[in-house]
Amino acid sequence: MPVQAPPTASPSQESLLELFPPGTALADDGALVIGGCRVTDLAERFGTPALIVDEAALRSQARRYADGLAARWANSRVAFASKAFPCTAVYRLLAEEGLSIDVAGGGELALALAGGVAPARIVVHGNAKTDAELRMAVDAGAGLIVIDNFDDIDRLERIVADEQPVLVRVTPGIRPDTHAAVSTGQEGSKFGLTLSQAREAIARLRGSSRLRLDGVHVHIGSQILDTEPFARAVEAVAALGAFAVYDLGGGLGARYTYDDRPPSVEEYLDTLVDAARRVLPEEAHVIIEPGRSMVAESGVTLYRVASVKRGEPTFVAVDGGMADNLEVALYGQRFEATVATRVGGGDPCHLVGRHCESGDTLSAEAPLRDPRPGDLIAVPVTGAYTYSLSNNYNGALRPPVVFCQGGDARAVVRRETYGDLLRRDLP
Ligand SMILES: *Cc1c(COP(=O)(O)O)cnc(C)c1O
Repeated sequence: MPVQAPPTASPSQESLLELFPPGTALADDGALVIGGCRVTDLAERFGTPALIVDEAALRSQARRYADGLAARWANSRVAFASKAFPCTAVYRLLAEEGLSIDVAGGGELALALAGGVAPARIVVHGNAKTDAELRMAVDAGAGLIVIDNFDDIDRLERIVADEQPVLVRVTPGIRPDTHAAVSTGQEGSKFGLTLSQAREAIARLRGSSRLRLDGVHVHIGSQILDTEPFARAVEAVAALGAFAVYDLGGGLGARYTYDDRPPSVEEYLDTLVDAARRVLPEEAHVIIEPGRSMVAESGVTLYRVASVKRGEPTFVAVDGGMADNLEVALYGQRFEATVATRVGGGDPCHLVGRHCESGDTLSAEAPLRDPRPGDLIAVPVTGAYTYSLSNNYNGALRPPVVFCQGGDARAVVRRETYGDLLRRDLP
């Protein structure tokens, strides 16, 4: 029988770092260093919980996507699905990298414009757009509005004065292997039109003088860990005919745990573009809309341990939880965690938050090494859908977002104050 490695060496420190942004290192005393910044310094300066973003890692993922798609299909662009991380600094950074931006509704549109995104590069989504939101998108000069239903057509016909380019969103009847809450391409989905409804919408739009039908859109879900459904989605939209634009959506999964093996960006692009070469017109403009896989891996949340309750299991409770990370409660997303100053395996602990729900868990079996009150805990891969789903449950103050690069750290979103909690209440 092989000799068992002691628990502190399993998984190794090197493999533990695999989930952190590239370039994350360990200081001589064992503390994590993210974007050149020691976690202890970050916690002291910005407090906890705090969402730390490795700026270089985020830029490099944007380039990987944009360059990777352009190398395979030159007439293309990447639109960041901004609901995954909608703060102005992220909009600004990704716009600087030349990306287009997806928004769902007026709020994200306002944020994108405030982040300096060129209106022509904005794609507007939503299955329940209001007249006010449609008017706002048209007035702003949004590059594309995605038609989700026949009411969108009726309303835009009334609102648009000159000409508005649009896409038609199709639900192709594909159910990828992901959590039901984030599956959107199956039959019976509330999003988009069935293939036969889409054909009807296309016919109507072709007769419209103000709505210019540029093409079709498909998005089958999120945290998809297999490339094959993406190819089937391309085939489904191709069956609707030849168009100038095909928006193939997002949905590639991120690597959250050591066991996850999502396809790489390159494997995903290979599958998508292979399918496009087979079935789409070669002069077509191809758009993809990654959200989660663009931002997840550049984010790390830092918490401080409030209490350790030893037993079966040992509960390690921190100063955040489901108010800053709702992914666990919403979709059962699994996260890893480590003591940020003593990286490396320890006995499995139940890492929980401070909120009044038993489902307020961050990591069910985190191998924390000798956790004590006051320790810093790092939860990697929290760049996607944490900030956007954060909330004030139990009067929680939403955490700051801190960009780190080359040893410099700057807050791009400040922590909320108790004053913020009171700001909307009227006497
Ligand atoms: C959410 C969404 C995306 C992005 O999905 P991810 O899983 O975050 O990549 C892309 N397109 C549309 C229309 C979406 O609603």
